[in-house]
Amino acid sequence: MESTGKRKERAAKVLKVLKKTYPDARCELDFSNPLELVIGCILSAQCTDKRVNSVTPALFAKYRTAADWAAAPQAVLEQELHSTGFFRSKAKNIRALCRLLDEQYGGQVPDDFDALVKLPGIGRKTANVLMVSAFGKPGIVVDTHMKRLANRLGFTREQNPDKIEKELQKIIPRKEWGAFSHAMVFHGRRCCYARKPACSQCPVREWCPSRETDNARA
Ligand code: SF4
Repeated sequence: MESTGKRKERAAKVLKVLKKTYPDARCELDFSNPLELVIGCILSAQCTDKRVNSVTPALFAKYRTAADWAAAPQAVLEQELHSTGFFRSKAKNIRALCRLLDEQYGGQVPDDFDALVKLPGIGRKTANVLMVSAFGKPGIVVDTHMKRLANRLGFTREQNPDKIEKELQKIIPRKEWGAFSHAMVFHGRRCCYARKPACSQCPVREWCPSRETDNARA
C-alpha cells in the first residue's frame, strides 16, 4: 500500500500539472457577494451551474438583501425557482436561511466555517465553497467530481464526503486546499468524466493508478 508520504508527493505533482492546465479554475457559479453565492449553492443542488447562472441575474436584481429573500412569498419564490428543480424545498430553505441571517447576522453570511455549518440547509460542501470562493480561506470542496477523482487518483478509498475531506486534508497543504478543489472539479468536468474519462488525453495520467485507454473503458 502506498505510504502517506508517497501519496503526498503524487498529489503535489498532480496539483502542479492541474493548476498549469486550468489556470482559470474557479467556482463556476456567478455571484458578486457571499449572499449571492450561498443562494447559488442552494439552487445548484440537482441542477447544473449553467442553469443556475441563467436564473440568478434576475433574482439577484430583485432580491438584494437577506431581508428581501426572507420577505419573498413562498409561492412567488417557487415560481421563480421552478426551472432549477426541487423548487419547493429550495424556496423554503432560502427563506429560512435568509430569515436567520437577517435576524442573527445583520444580513451577512458569516465567514466562519463552524458558524456556516450550523445554518439551515448548509452542509460542509457549501460551507467549504463559501470559505474558498467567497472569503478566500482554506477549504476542500467534496462534490461529486472531487469524490470520483480523489478515488480514481488513489488519494482515498472512502466514499463518504466527510471522510474524503479529512483524508485529502492530510495530503494537500492547507494553503492549496482552495486551488486543489477548483482544479479537481475543472478536471472532472473537462477530462475525467464520470462515464468515460478521457485518459489518453489526461495531463496527469502518469500519476493516476486508474488510467486506462479510452478503448478499455468504452
Ligand atoms: S488518467 Fe483517466 S482516470 Fe486518471 S485522472 Fe486522468 S482521466 Fe481520470
